[in-house]
Amino acid sequence: MFDKILIANRGEIALRIQRACRELGIKTVAVYSQADRDLKHVLLADESVCIGPAQANQSYLSMGSIISAAEVTQADAIHPGYGFLSESADFAESVERSGFVFIGPRAETIRLMGGKTAAKAEMIAAGVPCVPGSEGALPDNDGECLELAEAVGYPVLIKAVSGGGGRGMHVVRNREELIESVHIARYEAESAFGDGSVFLEKYLEKPRHIEFQVLADEHGHAIHLGERDCSMQRRNQKVVEEAPAPGITEEERERIGALCIAACERIGYRGAGTMEFLYEDGNFYFIEMNTRIQVEHPVTEMVTGVDLIKKQIAIAAGRELDLKQSDIKVQGHAIECRINAEDPRNFVPSPGAITTYHAPGGPGVRMDSHIYAGYRVPPYYDSMIGKLICHGETRDIAIARTLSALSELVVEGIKTNITLHREILNDAAFRAGKHDIHYLASIIERWAV
Ligand code: ADP
Repeated sequence: MFDKILIANRGEIALRIQRACRELGIKTVAVYSQADRDLKHVLLADESVCIGPAQANQSYLSMGSIISAAEVTQADAIHPGYGFLSESADFAESVERSGFVFIGPRAETIRLMGGKTAAKAEMIAAGVPCVPGSEGALPDNDGECLELAEAVGYPVLIKAVSGGGGRGMHVVRNREELIESVHIARYEAESAFGDGSVFLEKYLEKPRHIEFQVLADEHGHAIHLGERDCSMQRRNQKVVEEAPAPGITEEERERIGALCIAACERIGYRGAGTMEFLYEDGNFYFIEMNTRIQVEHPVTEMVTGVDLIKKQIAIAAGRELDLKQSDIKVQGHAIECRINAEDPRNFVPSPGAITTYHAPGGPGVRMDSHIYAGYRVPPYYDSMIGKLICHGETRDIAIARTLSALSELVVEGIKTNITLHREILNDAAFRAGKHDIHYLASIIERWAV
């Protein structure tokens, strides 16, 4: 097992990784920007290294600074968390070349799955159903693009091959708009991702977002840990997630889970990963794979009892996965609310000093957060300040428990979206498990009037 792990991240996920390391008896190195000296995990780490100024591209995205910090502190391995460099194949490669273990998949796997069309091709080969669309990037020839769109059927969605973060997608509803949208999308993709190639797929009008968690070791053994429903989204950003997905049958879970395992075996996957699907009219359509731990991993942990971060670490250390598929039992229901420092009505970020903080507690209540009274939320990073995760024997109990916990949670000094979560948890469509990915936008509109 490792002796010392460097955590190449900040905020709640850095603290979460640190907790797993401490339980495993592994020392931790925290790296932080000049704006993050007071982060909780930095104060608790065995060693800490300032890696640069507040701007992420000069600190948390600076590969050289992070690898130097690992050298100076003689860490064995680097955990990238989510966001920042977690899905950078170049970073994974540099880490390994410098003699450290990257806690995640091999660089070539990250590169392969980071290209959406290549990822889809691998999935199709493994028998996983995908959204119908152009196979591969769109050709330069306008006529061929029109033919491809015609074959798929309008409306279509144009996406960047190297896209991410829900950015740069264009819905096209008819033939007349196609070519102009393709050209705009290419231009945007080139400037945002340095790769102007785009592809198209059928635009689904009212899908749910359902994703499967997988774990695979480097000895060829892979399992799935069931699914999560992340349909409560705003601008492609998840707001509330839950496990299991309401209404998904054991048969569907087993069938799609088995296909995800087959895909892991095909690409030689290693570590924790997520296969994202859209689900409409009883059909699953793969959209992309995330080759890292996700924000919403705790809901899976709560219903399976498996500590995903500890498994990531054990797998990276070369251990065999000590779980069989038959060990995975989904028990009860878990819901996660992402608590953001933002105005609950207009979503404008609200950084600043937290004057009062009371965390909720009680059976089945988990608060993953790095904040404390006196902590100042810096304006430079994502506005998420914590995650409230509640588990109950049934979905109704989990909802009641989440509402109770939300009423206990006090964060003062800054604005938060706690009231938005209360409204969501009390919403009839959410309670019935009937919401799709566009639902939240529609209720926010209603509240505004
Ligand atoms: P990114 O990597 O930018 O997050 P994804 O492919 O995961 O891109 O898509 C982000 C979100 O966009 C999805 O969660 C879903 O809400 C929406 N989306 C993606 N593909 C489609 C589609 N074919 N039809 C309708 N909505 C889609």
